[in-house]
Amino acid sequence: MKQIQQLFQSEDGNIEQRENFLSLLEKIVTSLDNLKNPQKTTLGPMKERSANFYQELMQDNQVPTSGVGLDQVVDDLTQLMQGHPYHTRNFVTNVLPMASIPGVLGQFTNALLNGNNLWDVYGPAAAECEVKVVAMMSKLVGYDFTQSFGYTTWGGQGAVFSGLRLAIAKQFPQAKEEGVPNNLYCFASENAHYSLLKSIEAVGIGSKHLIRVKAGKDHSMDVQDLQARMTEVIENGGIPVYVVATTGATDQFGIDDVQAIKEVTTNLEKKYDLQSIHIHADSALGGFYAFFNDYDFKKNPLHFEEDVLQGLLQIHERMQHLAIADSLCFDFQKLGQTPYLTSLFLIKEGKNLRLLDIDDFDTPYVGNRGYGSYHTGYTLECSRMGSSIAIYAALQAFGKEGYQQILANYVRVNLAFRKQLAEKLPMIQVVNEANIGPVTAYRLYPKDFNWASEQAGSYTQVQLEYINAINASLFEILGEGRDEVFFGDTTRVCTVSASDTKQQIPVAAAKFFSISPYTETEHISDIVHFLKQKVKVLEASQIEYSH
Ligand SMILES: *Cc1c(COP(=O)(O)O)cnc(C)c1O
Repeated sequence: MKQIQQLFQSEDGNIEQRENFLSLLEKIVTSLDNLKNPQKTTLGPMKERSANFYQELMQDNQVPTSGVGLDQVVDDLTQLMQGHPYHTRNFVTNVLPMASIPGVLGQFTNALLNGNNLWDVYGPAAAECEVKVVAMMSKLVGYDFTQSFGYTTWGGQGAVFSGLRLAIAKQFPQAKEEGVPNNLYCFASENAHYSLLKSIEAVGIGSKHLIRVKAGKDHSMDVQDLQARMTEVIENGGIPVYVVATTGATDQFGIDDVQAIKEVTTNLEKKYDLQSIHIHADSALGGFYAFFNDYDFKKNPLHFEEDVLQGLLQIHERMQHLAIADSLCFDFQKLGQTPYLTSLFLIKEGKNLRLLDIDDFDTPYVGNRGYGSYHTGYTLECSRMGSSIAIYAALQAFGKEGYQQILANYVRVNLAFRKQLAEKLPMIQVVNEANIGPVTAYRLYPKDFNWASEQAGSYTQVQLEYINAINASLFEILGEGRDEVFFGDTTRVCTVSASDTKQQIPVAAAKFFSISPYTETEHISDIVHFLKQKVKVLEASQIEYSH
């Protein structure tokens, strides 16, 4: 048993066990450091995977009969780092951040304590932090913290799902026992994240009852279309339960106007005598720009450059209305700079969580005893990791100003990227010009084609598909060089109409998603140079495509 005990932290805090533990940690961190190279986006060379790579893993692996020893384990862990993506200055793909040190320390503390956030008797540290971060973020967005509540959950996806559960429970408290009525409908922009699609399938509403609302030129939800689509549903006997307002869309940072959406739902509720329709702001990504809610844009205490300030102000115009939404989400593992998985779900009227709770009778081994008062029976999870500790550590370490600095830098480098694109690569055009934020979506055009005409619906379906194909080839070429500069891409940044058919055609675009704290404006010219080289490779490979 003594040998087995050596696999654990000490029971009594003795120095010898601590030093063994720390030396293992040091090995891990040192090995990681040895693999780092700021000019690359991977730790060491990229790993080539054969076609049957995963099949071979299945064949080759079984539990060892006796343990291999911690040194061997650490070696194995170090091996896993080889070829892993790493978030250097050239890492500009999707919103996959580097975990900040406070975030890692919070997660580490959580792992050491291994509290279970199901109940404060088992996980008091996480419960305490959860309440703290709920209060902090409630105050930040402008919720009344005496009414609001929330909890950490399984991603932005989990928040969209939990918002939907709540939306149904508010209008149909009996649905828990009797099942969901078959005439419920949900609404979201065509640019919304697919989280809602999965949620609607999972709660049994059925994905045919997801109404996709058109997006406008700035990629945000067209509220007139929302009004029209909701009216149509209501007049045909449907009941709207849930509207998801995407506040910072994943591919182009379109920001839906929560205030305008609320006006639409309120008017329809009055006109048709409906119950209140739940609005969830899917702010998983963009909500962090609420850190500028009380920034003094006139005095500009952090001395942001004029164009950065204007960009931030433009985001602020929309983000200041987040508190109108009935629920929200902050994916701290995105712009909150913490490790996976640290998502916070916030609810304006915390008391509504009661609608999701199960009876004490059904939770016999946990719950309200004399010695424990924080029991999260309303979450879909049972045991929950204490991710609130990492969130708390990050909020404390960065402070509002730290977040303002890093969020402003994303805007700054995007502005620089757009400027250099326009100067050096005119055949590439930005398709989310109206949305400044952490992402620039760009598209390569053949001679005589351009985004303005494309967005206006001037091209035929065949032409649109041709431009998409060129861009798909560009993604392949960019992807092959991703260990140098790691761009993102999307097959549908938005849709446009074709001039000759009734089809809405998806628009494919590559993405510059600034997410590393190490990407600064001085690195942009190298990134643009890389892009230029890759466009040349593409041109050389396609005879019929030329400028
Ligand atoms: C990332 C994202 C999601 C999904 O969040 P996960 O944390 O990956 O589950 C949902 N909505 C938006 C807008 C997002 O950016």
